[in-house]
Amino acid sequence: MSTVKEEKMPILEMKRDYYHLIINGERMESSSGETFTTYNPATGEPLATIQQGTLEDVEKAVQAARNAFDNGKWKRYPVGKRSRVLNKIAEIMRSRFKELVELEILNSGKSLSAAQGQVMQAIEDFEFYAGAIVGHRGHVNNVPGGFFNYTQKEPVGVCAQIIPWNYPMMMAAWKIAPAIASGCSVIIKPASLTPVTAIVMAEICHEAGVPDGVVNVVSGPGSVVGDALAQHPQVDKVAFTGSTPTGKDIMEKASKTLKRVTLELGGKSPNIIFEDADIDAAVDGSLFGIFYNTGQSCEARSRLYIHEDIYDKFMDKFVEKTKKLTLGNPFDKGTHLGSIISREQLEVIDGYVRSAVEEGAHVLVGGREAKVEGFENGYWYEPTIITNVTPEMKAVKEEIFGPVVVVMSFSNEKEVIKEANNSIYGLGSAIWTKDQGRATRVANEIDAGIVMVNCPFSAFPGTPFGGYKQSGFGRELCIETLDLYTETKSVISYYGSRPINPFGV
Ligand code: NAP
Ligand code: MG
Repeated sequence: MSTVKEEKMPILEMKRDYYHLIINGERMESSSGETFTTYNPATGEPLATIQQGTLEDVEKAVQAARNAFDNGKWKRYPVGKRSRVLNKIAEIMRSRFKELVELEILNSGKSLSAAQGQVMQAIEDFEFYAGAIVGHRGHVNNVPGGFFNYTQKEPVGVCAQIIPWNYPMMMAAWKIAPAIASGCSVIIKPASLTPVTAIVMAEICHEAGVPDGVVNVVSGPGSVVGDALAQHPQVDKVAFTGSTPTGKDIMEKASKTLKRVTLELGGKSPNIIFEDADIDAAVDGSLFGIFYNTGQSCEARSRLYIHEDIYDKFMDKFVEKTKKLTLGNPFDKGTHLGSIISREQLEVIDGYVRSAVEEGAHVLVGGREAKVEGFENGYWYEPTIITNVTPEMKAVKEEIFGPVVVVMSFSNEKEVIKEANNSIYGLGSAIWTKDQGRATRVANEIDAGIVMVNCPFSAFPGTPFGGYKQSGFGRELCIETLDLYTETKSVISYYGSRPINPFGV
């Protein structure tokens, strides 16, 4: 294997033509010499050449992570020192904020405001865990006299972290920050469509002082690199964000060696507008809820339920504002929706719209590929509203993962709760009402990990993010995440003056 070894990983331009694997603190080429191309989906043009990891590269990365964990200093650092390094990562990211935003836009096609918000959140995730880890500790427990028991939190070990393309940098931060704060070593497998910002983030980790082998990146096909990581006997934990079918596959493979598994999977989140809602706030929040990130969000509020008394009033405004949303140069401040991630994903979205039409639904707005001037070879889809739907339709039941909302009306609270929960998923949900009692009742009854009450946002650093049912399990972005990257060790000791002889022999 050829390597590009330097004493210390030098700081390179973030935007470049060529990105390496990161293994054991070195930029490396693939053991096969093979590469793949990553594209700018807004233009359809090639962006950069990426090393394509192989099974041999996975093995190298696992051994590097294993060695860093078993024999290295990272988990043995005083917690304050690990915390300082996390803050340093955030500081470097802040100082290179514009470059990171540019790179994220170029690789994902997302709008400037979306990319800015997500890169800022990635930074704040490191700051959050830099603080949170200092207070993460065990307990002294009540036990019978003569005995003493304390618990301590110890890092889980080597973590494989497989991430998707919809929030490439933010997902890398959600995974890396709590894991390394806890003292684990990680191997990141970025999505093949969007590998560059995770690679750059690993480089920044090294620049900030993370020791060699603690943060590794192996890009390459999920069916090769992801699959091998999910099965590898020396990997202690797999954390995955992506589709529900791939999550199930990973869980099955991980079960062979009983790896710890956390899964953040798909969703079909309901958005409920009650008759007493502030209609303007609900319209604006619902627009954001479905069209943010061009609908490519696991918690996109893609099923809209509107009380029949306000249906027409709400829909008039919702349709009017949807038509005002702009698609265009992702770098323009005024652009609301960026591109779709790939031609394949665009076909999937359009297939769902076509299937709804075939099943008798009505496309009220959008419903087709968009033509964007200057971006003719990119992948664009019109913001789409579908009405006249029934709960059995594919487009109502399944995750579309694009800018498409299905709209239904309801007549009472009980009925809408039942419909909202009529899904295999349970990730996000939103309620719009001025009645605090109703908000609390409905929040209690909804089967979802996240309930937004009169609120367009689903997460901040510190708020738990994760799902019920087939949306997965485990919570990210919060204090509880640290428990998922640590084991609890119970230490029981006896301090009595007389020896104990339980068998009495
Ligand atoms: P996916 O298959 O779940 O991919 C997510 C990640 O898993 C990528 O890094 C992928 O690598 C990797 N992967 C794929 N197959 C794997 C395997 N057998 N073992 C281990 N890792 C594997 O998602 P997708 O194919 O990109 O998108 C399909 C659908 O998933 C979308 O239409 C959307 O509905 C859903 N999705 C959900 C989320 C979410 O946040 N919940 C995010 C993205 C997509 P490669 O990139 O190399 O394939
Ligand atoms: Mg896939």
